[in-house]
Amino acid sequence: MADTEIGFKNNALTDDAEFTEKLILCIDCNTEFVWTIGEQIFFRDKGLQNPPKRCKECKQAKNERLAAITAAQAAGIKQRIEVTVRCARCNSQTTVPFYPSQGRPVFCRSCYLEMNPSLVADNNGQF
Ligand SMILES: [Zn+2]
Ligand SMILES: [Zn+2]
Repeated sequence: MADTEIGFKNNALTDDAEFTEKLILCIDCNTEFVWTIGEQIFFRDKGLQNPPKRCKECKQAKNERLAAITAAQAAGIKQRIEVTVRCARCNSQTTVPFYPSQGRPVFCRSCYLEMNPSLVADNNGQF
């Protein structure tokens, strides 16, 4: 019975035999890196569906970036962000140092100050 023989053979092989080292192009530095069999088994054991996108160095750099942001947030340090938006009043393009929440109008600096003249006094003219 050839069928059972093949079936037996396949069962005798460990799952690990289906893994081969793969080359993956890192999305950050565009360098090919080896996804080793050991790492593939690790991914499988963790139930991860997608192969890694970054090489080790970029993955570590990314983790450090995230850690730095988390640490800064924990320490109350605001990250400098700049979001380009359109002023809800004069429709000119402007940047704001925060992520506007959806549905809330965002105004450019001059419109904002026009609408809130007290801010000018409060901040000594420095927005
Ligand atoms: Zn990389
Ligand atoms: Zn405006």
